[in-house]
Parts: sequence; C-alpha cells; structure tokens
Amino acid sequence: MNHKLRVKRLQELLGARKLGALLVTHLPDIRYLSGFTGSAGALLVTDSRAVFFTDGRYTEQARAQVQGVRIVISPKPPLTAAAEWCNSNLKSRSSSRRSLGIDADHLTVSQHSRLRQMITSSFRLVQAPALVATMRMMKDAEEIELIRAAVMLGASLFDTALQAIRPGVKETDVAAEMEHAARRAGAEEMSFSTIIASGTRSALPHGRATQARIPPSGFVVCDFGVILAGYCSDMTRTVHVGRPTAEARSIYNAVLEAQDAAVQAVRAGAGVSDVDGSARNLLKSKGLAKYFSHSTGHGVGLEIHEAPRIARGAPDILEPGMVITIEPGIYIAGKCGVRIEDMVVVTERGRDVLTPTTKELIAV
Ligand code: ZN
Ligand code: ZN
Repeated sequence: MNHKLRVKRLQELLGARKLGALLVTHLPDIRYLSGFTGSAGALLVTDSRAVFFTDGRYTEQARAQVQGVRIVISPKPPLTAAAEWCNSNLKSRSSSRRSLGIDADHLTVSQHSRLRQMITSSFRLVQAPALVATMRMMKDAEEIELIRAAVMLGASLFDTALQAIRPGVKETDVAAEMEHAARRAGAEEMSFSTIIASGTRSALPHGRATQARIPPSGFVVCDFGVILAGYCSDMTRTVHVGRPTAEARSIYNAVLEAQDAAVQAVRAGAGVSDVDGSARNLLKSKGLAKYFSHSTGHGVGLEIHEAPRIARGAPDILEPGMVITIEPGIYIAGKCGVRIEDMVVVTERGRDVLTPTTKELIAV
C-alpha cells in the first residue's frame, strides 16, 4: 500500500479546497492513509506535513505500521495531543485564522467542544467535506486483489451454510458453523453479524440469526461476509427448504432478474441512481416494486458500508475501481423474503463480478 502517495493526494485536495489542515478521526480513514490498524489515534494532515498521534499502548505497532507519517506517542488522548501539537507547531501565515478541518461524522459533540477549548484562537474549526471517503471509493489494484481474496473466503462459507441448513436447526447454529469455518479459513472476523433469516423471518431485510428453528419449508436468507487483511466481503444467497411452490419460484426469479439487470447496468460513467433504477423497474414490471424496501447496494472496502450508495436519487457516477454490492430484495411481511447480493468491481468497459457463487435457486 502506498500510504505516502495517498497522503500526498489528500494534501493536494486540501490545497484545492484552501483548507489549512485536516484532522482525521475515523479509524478506517487513518488506516487508509497511514497503515495504522489500532483502535486509538488521530491523524493531522497539513499542506506539507502529516502527523499521527496515539498512546503508549500502540508504540510498537505504530512504529511497525505507520509509514511516511511522523508518529507522536502521548500519554494524553490523541485528540488532546493533536490540539497541543497544532498550537505549538502550526502558525498562521497571515493575520487571518487558520482553518482546521474536522470530520463531523466522526467526532462526538463532546470531542468537538473539547477541541474548541483546547485549540488557540488562531484556528477556526470547519466541517471538512468527506475527502478521504471520496478517495477511498476508488480502489487500486492491490486493494481489489485483497477484496477478491476476502470475497472468495466469504463465498466458501455458503457451502457450510448449505450443509447446516435443515428443518429444525437453529439459525444461530447455522451462523455458528459458518463463523467457525470463516475463522478456520483465516478470517480476522465477520464483517457484520451473520444474517440467517428463515421462514417468515426472511421478510426482515436485516434478520440476524436468532434461536428460531428453521421451518420445514420456506426461504432462508443468508447474508454474510468476512474481513481478511482489513478488507470486507458481503454476499447474500437465499435458499429454499423443501420444494418451492410456483409462487416462491416466481418471487425468486423476479429478484434474480432484477439483480441481473442491475449488474448489467454497472459500468464506468453510469449513474448509481440508474443502476438502482434498473433493479427497481424490473420489479415494477412484475408488480413487486413495493416490496423492495431498501437501496440496491453500497460500496465495500475497509468498511462493510462505504461510499457510494447505490440508491434512488443518489448523485454519484460509477468510476473504474469502485467496488459495490448489487443486492435487490423482496420482503412480504408475515410471509417471505428473498435477496441476492454480489460484489462487483466497476471496470473501464463494464464490470467484474467478484462473487463466484451460483444464483440458481437451491432447495435443501
Ligand atoms: Zn450483505
Ligand atoms: Zn450489502
């Protein structure tokens, strides 16, 4: 990972926005820019400097991981250390106050007011635009390979799920088998709480595994992912316990067609809103759009949900290197639900579907 280059690109963005400095407080952003994977730190990036603040627990780790950035180990909280460093090292070049950008999405109200008290009057705290999140949307070749490896490991868990899903088995037992297999295969952790939603629970888009027992027939939505080398995977397959009825098949096929349509719509230059629209229009043509209650997908990388959102009315345009999910679903309350989700890389000419798993309806 070329962290030095990333910091340099951020500095160019700061210059273009006439922002004197940016205080990065979101840990995945810090990891992206510096390589630091610990749980306490702040990164200050100015037009010409980058300084990372952490505490004594991370002395060794910071020295091993952080490259191209000055490291300050302080007994004080990282934010305090950063504020004091600013006060003594950053001088205003003119009589006007120097603007210090903060990340409003990742600074608590109390941290913000503390920062205001600590910083001298030569600084003005301003809400910075999401510069690092924007940089992180486009993955480089190395990141795409790491994501591909996470996706392959994640996909291998579907076989475990197929072995475990049987009538009478608890959803949590299916999740446990999958999570055990993930760890045995080297996953750092799951990228979110495994969703195993069976029977009428399949109509809950975020039906985390519970102690409910899998009924003798009906859909089971399995949505799961792992973290490998820091990068997340995310996929959903919906299987059927027992023989699916004609109605169940037609619901499943509608979701499958919608998912395919949205995958086909992914290409550099396409609007995310149009990608969402291709799934939604397909379901609309079958009278099922009202049951599709969430957006079509999201970016994935160091975090399970990151920019861009693939949603109606969202402004982003797809660019090569973006890694997104395509995951339409249908949820009929009290009855059933189906979702199919793949991870897709946007390429110059179209797309590369990372998820290798069949989307045919599997009956167990
Ligand atoms: Zn998912
Ligand atoms: Zn997802």
